[in-house]
Formats: sequence, C-alpha cells, structure tokens
Amino acid sequence: MDLDVIVIGCGVAGLSSARLLQEAGHRVRIWARELPPRTTSNIAAAFWYPYRVFPRDRVDAWARDSYAAFARLVDAPDAGVLPRQALELFPAAASADIDASWSAALPGARPAPADDLPPGYVGGQLFDSFVVETPRYIPWLRARFLAAGGTIEARAVDSPSEALREADAVLHCPGLGARETAGDRAMLPVRGQLVRVENPGISRVIVDEHSGGAITYVVPRSRDVILGGTSDEGDENLEADPATTEAIVARCLALEPRLAGAARLGVLVGIRPCRPEVRVEREELQGGPVIHNYGHGGAGITLSWGCAAEAVSLLGA
Ligand SMILES: Cc1cc2nc3c(=O)[nH]c(=O)nc-3n(C[C@H](O)[C@H](O)[C@H](O)COP(=O)(O)OP(=O)(O)OC[C@H]3O[C@@H](n4cnc5c(N)ncnc54)[C@H](O)[C@@H]3O)c2cc1C
Repeated sequence: MDLDVIVIGCGVAGLSSARLLQEAGHRVRIWARELPPRTTSNIAAAFWYPYRVFPRDRVDAWARDSYAAFARLVDAPDAGVLPRQALELFPAAASADIDASWSAALPGARPAPADDLPPGYVGGQLFDSFVVETPRYIPWLRARFLAAGGTIEARAVDSPSEALREADAVLHCPGLGARETAGDRAMLPVRGQLVRVENPGISRVIVDEHSGGAITYVVPRSRDVILGGTSDEGDENLEADPATTEAIVARCLALEPRLAGAARLGVLVGIRPCRPEVRVEREELQGGPVIHNYGHGGAGITLSWGCAAEAVSLLGA
C-alpha cells in the first residue's frame, strides 16, 4: 500500500529515510525547521565509524548495513563517498580495555604494523572505511529525493501529531529537536569542534578515541582535511574557541606530521544529538503511526542507511 508520509527533519536521517520511503512506493514530503546546509549533518567530519552511539548490538547491525550502502555509492557521480583506509590507535593505558570486536569482520581489518604507530601508542588496527564528504553528499541526497518527486518545506512542528493531520504516517527524524517534538529528556547535546585545513596529499583516516578526554581524528577528504575534535557534554555553544582550535591542530600534528604547515581553511562547530540509545521505534498516535529515527550521537552518517531501512520496515505497509 502506498501512503502519504511526512518526514520531519532534513538531516541525514530524514533524507535517507525519505529516499527509502520513496523506493518503497510512498509519496513523501519533508518538513524541517532548518534546511541544509544549516543542519548538524552538514558539519559532520564524516567518516564511517560507530562513535558514541548505543546499544552496541543494534548499532553494529545498522553500521554494517550502512557500510554496504556506502560501498555501493562509491561510484555514484557527485555523491562524495570516498573509500579510505582508517587507522584506529590504542594508547598504552587503555589498550587492555578496548573492545575492537565490532571491526573484526570489516574488509581490510588487521592489526596495524608497529611502523604505522605514532610515538606513544602500543597498538592499533587498520580497516577499510568511507569518508562521506557531507558538503557534497547531503546536496546529492537532497537532489535525488527531489528528482524522485519529493517536496521539502521549511516548517517547524511542535510534535509529530501536527504532521499526522496531513498524512497517513510520520517518520520522525528531528535530531536534537526531539527534546521539543517528543519531549525526550534522554537527549544529550555533545558539542564538537573541527578545524578544516588544506590537504597536503594524505588519504588515510587516523583516529584515537581511547586516550581519555577528547577524541582526536584526521579525516582526509578530496580537497581538504577535517581535524577533530572535542566532545563537550551539555555544551551547545556554536562559537569556535581559538584555544581549542590550537589544541586540535597540535594533537592531529602529533598523529600526522605531514599536516605541518597545511593552510587553515576554517573552523566548524556542531552539536551531536546523543542519547543513551538510538531511538528507532514505532509509536501509535491518534491519527496514525509515527516511526522515530533519532538520537544517533556521533555516528549519524555511519548508521544512516541501516537505521533508515529499519525505520521504513517498521511502517510495515
Ligand atoms: C563535530 C561533529 C562531527 C561528527 N562526525 C561524524 C562522523 O565522522 N561520522 C558520523 O557518522 N557522524 C558524525 N557526526 C554525527 C552526525 O553529524 C549526526 O549524528 C547526524 O548528523 C544526525 O543527523 P540527524 O538527521 O538526526 O540530525 P540533524 O542533521 O540535526 O537534522 C535534524 C533535522 O530535524 C529538523 N528539526 C529539528 N527540530 C524540528 C522541529 N521542531 N520541526 C521541524 N524540523 C525540526 C532540523 O531542522 C533538521 O532539519 C558528527 C557530528 C558532529 C557535531
């Protein structure tokens, strides 16, 4: 049965869900308070890596499904999905406690040779990942949705019920906005600051999330490199902090010395929509079903296709 469905939200969760709804034969409209490029999804670094997101068993399945979807998009012209080798580093203090089981089945997964480790690290693993160039990918996704007959309206809602008055079903993808639209008190804003520099010719992603404190990562895109980051719980300040910028650059230089002297192109700040557990769930409201798809924390790109597929399947029509 084809339905009239309104998707709330025009970030990666809303757009991916909207595309899969279209593929399932539904008529789809997106309503969103902010449109790209003014969404968190546009700021994401963004590489495939299940960071700061739970519960682990569901996350692993969603991440795997999305991984397969990104592999299919590598050859799509203009999608901005780049295959990249990733090096995850293990510092001495934390190495015994690290569970790297999520990566065991990934293509290219193997222990990193000692020569690949920057000073101060006792181990690491290599795996094949994807960098999703959000300034290219989000417009590409949006264009595909519009070309398939979808419509996008800049419109804020107070709750999914408001959209249900005009549709058979609602797919609810408001990111951090779930605090207002669903009164969801489990949402936790986690601020991230990034530095964009020129690419001196590097292609490997490097990440250290195990050293305590902030996550550090080097994410090479086609023309620039994103350096991160911070993980400031409860902080929603969108102003860049200059001292933090210097600290990020210094930490990344220690991981990748070829970044020395790379021209700075800008600083980005975004707020991750964290939640103790991602919410992909069906709820029956007066007027019809609402499928929730939000709370993807620091991994909304990584989980996007897997969560969208499950959300659309929950519609069951
Ligand atoms: C610094 C940083 C780095 C990151 N790096 C990565 C990474 O490397 N890999 C990765 O996988 N993820 C990464 N992430 C996480 C990723 O960006 C998020 O998980 C993802 O963007 C969430 O997508 P979303 O569609 O749920 O939310 P958003 O992109 O925030 O979209 C939410 C949409 O809902 C709309 N909305 C909200 N409230 C309302 C309302 N009341 N009415 C109507 N519309 C509403 C908004 O306007 C917007 O259109 C990063 C995030 C940050 C901040």
